[in-house]
Amino acid sequence: TPLLSLEDVSFAYPDGTEVLRGVSMTVPPGARVALVGPSGAGKSTVLALVEGFYPLSGGCIRWAGTDVRDLPRAALRARLGYVEQEAPVLAGSVRENLLLAAPGSTDDELWAVLADVGLTGVVQRSARGLDVPVGDEGVLLSGGERQRLAIARSLLARPSLLLLDEPTASLDARNEGLLRDTLAAASADRALLVVAHRLSTVRDSDQIVVLDAGRVVGRGTHDELVETS
Ligand code: ADP
Ligand code: ADP
Repeated sequence: TPLLSLEDVSFAYPDGTEVLRGVSMTVPPGARVALVGPSGAGKSTVLALVEGFYPLSGGCIRWAGTDVRDLPRAALRARLGYVEQEAPVLAGSVRENLLLAAPGSTDDELWAVLADVGLTGVVQRSARGLDVPVGDEGVLLSGGERQRLAIARSLLARPSLLLLDEPTASLDARNEGLLRDTLAAASADRALLVVAHRLSTVRDSDQIVVLDAGRVVGRGTHDELVETS
């Protein structure tokens, strides 16, 4: 059974804008799936529907085989980690940012997740360690580091599925490489659904679904899709 499946999903926003038409896709347990397409294709909308922000116009979304309408919203949310585009980082410290997602975490757990996202070096550069302010004097985190901190925050809550909206949109090549390493670490024990503008960003995915104007227009691995385009 797939962890997540969309079956013939159609959707129009409350203002009548029809955005998705008959979209079907699955995320098997532990798989890395990407949703690729031009701006306005409906990619962020798919993530919003998975999160349960809006009712579907047609079709069905299942979590481990169960229609999500039959699941308590809080139970589903607890299994999902959502990292939005330009994920906001709080003005506080690295520790405060991390504890937001999982208040009871020990320092060992915080350091472990920082290692997963490649941020231990940054935090150790300051004598204040986990209490270093993220956007103040002391260590100022770069855009790429803030993005990875936001991912670390989501990982701490141990989601079964991590949803990432354009995680590399604002990153330079070096930080995009670091983020891809982060996602490889993150996918060791969970599934990923990554939204991206460009195919090259998600070339490590097990399965890529290409969306255009609300319809699925292609699917396959990166190499399969490059061959046919
Ligand atoms: P993508 O993530 O692929 O860029 P989106 O899912 O953000 O695409 O948007 C798909 C379409 O839905 C676009 O035409 C966009 O303008 C429209 N849209 C997005 N959000 C809303 C909203 N809250 N209300 C009405 N239309 C929206
Ligand atoms: P990419 O996917 O390569 O980042 P996009 O065109 O999706 O390219 O987005 C480029 C920038 O424009 C991003 O910072 C994004 O937040 C912003 N953006 C995307 N769609 C819209 C929109 N409908 N209205 C305003 N800004 C947008």
